[in-house]
Amino acid sequence: MAEPLVRFEGVRKAYGPAASGYAVRQLDLAVERGELLTLLGPSGSGKTTTLMMLAGFEQPSEGHILLEGRDIARLPPHKRGIGVVFQSYALFPHMSVAENVGFPLEVRGVPKAERAGRVARALAMVRLEGFGDRRPAQLSGGQQQRIALARAMVFEPPIVLLDEPLGALDKALREEMQYEIRALHQRLGLTMMYVTHDQAEALTLSDRIAVFEGGLVRQLAPPREIYERPANAFVAGFVGENNRLAGKVLAAEDDLVRVALDCGPEVSARPVDCGPPGSRCWVTIRPERVAVAPVAPQDLGEGALAATLQEAIFQGDHVRLRLALGQGDEARGEVLVKRPVGGGQLPAIGGPAALAWEAAHALAYAA
Ligand code: ADP
Ligand code: MG
Repeated sequence: MAEPLVRFEGVRKAYGPAASGYAVRQLDLAVERGELLTLLGPSGSGKTTTLMMLAGFEQPSEGHILLEGRDIARLPPHKRGIGVVFQSYALFPHMSVAENVGFPLEVRGVPKAERAGRVARALAMVRLEGFGDRRPAQLSGGQQQRIALARAMVFEPPIVLLDEPLGALDKALREEMQYEIRALHQRLGLTMMYVTHDQAEALTLSDRIAVFEGGLVRQLAPPREIYERPANAFVAGFVGENNRLAGKVLAAEDDLVRVALDCGPEVSARPVDCGPPGSRCWVTIRPERVAVAPVAPQDLGEGALAATLQEAIFQGDHVRLRLALGQGDEARGEVLVKRPVGGGQLPAIGGPAALAWEAAHALAYAA
């Protein structure tokens, strides 16, 4: 296999004395050429620190970072040739758009005659040709962020780093920009490392997602695998909505485990990282994988769970149902269900319901 473009090897970072903790605890991560790799995780999980070490604004406490096979520890940021885009646009307000975009070329000593053509091409890439003479203040937030992107790409860096670049934009614009960045990445074959705490954004954009927690990568995989096969209970809970039911492993049967849920019923699930019989576990099931029918307790089919519908909220393209497991006074534990509009008859609010899902969609994790 070809050498990855970037490789973090045994990288750790403590801002203060190591005894007071690591912002990045242990990082071994390769960024392949041409991929868009997203660092996804809650605030404080070490994403920005990782990006800053690659950009050269922070130094690792331990370990090595290789760019195209070369250790870059001693290279200052401007010699690494990496493009960076931050949440705040950080455009120079007193310069025109063209001067902003041309700035990285100017500091690299590219002659003026050549700069104009390259700036025009970079502006065309972000669909802002003809905006060169304006000032940043005359542009919308989305346009300013596209200028920042053009400025990060204009010197054709081997990799562009983006740290929550859409964080300041409203939802509609953010989504539009996600598709735009994705298209740009695909069209130009750019390698990008993208930081976000927004899981929907990560699913939309990424070739692969590294899910961060507490300074560690908890899973590294393509979006679909992150969503459908979370490697541990943290990822299962952090990416996408999920139901999580506590229980105890009873027995292993073929490639499933039998679990006694604390709320009463027994279910089968696919074991991901759960322990042997007797150990505590979580069973997770996605809201869109749960089928709901208005069924009286005496008519429950085999394997169906008795529940009570508490709330149904119309959301346009789907209905969100909140159900309590159990019926009447026995109700314990809650399950969220999403189902398409027009998906059959709903139970009455407060009325009995049957829940069912395919065992293969329920995943069991160590608690
Ligand atoms: P994220 O980008 O995932 O929100 P950061 O990498 O910014 O996380 O932060 C990781 C941890 O390092 C946090 O606990 C944060 O408080 C700490 N940290 C970040 N930057 C600094 C700094 N310049 N000095 C001291 N601690 C920092
Ligand atoms: Mg951050």
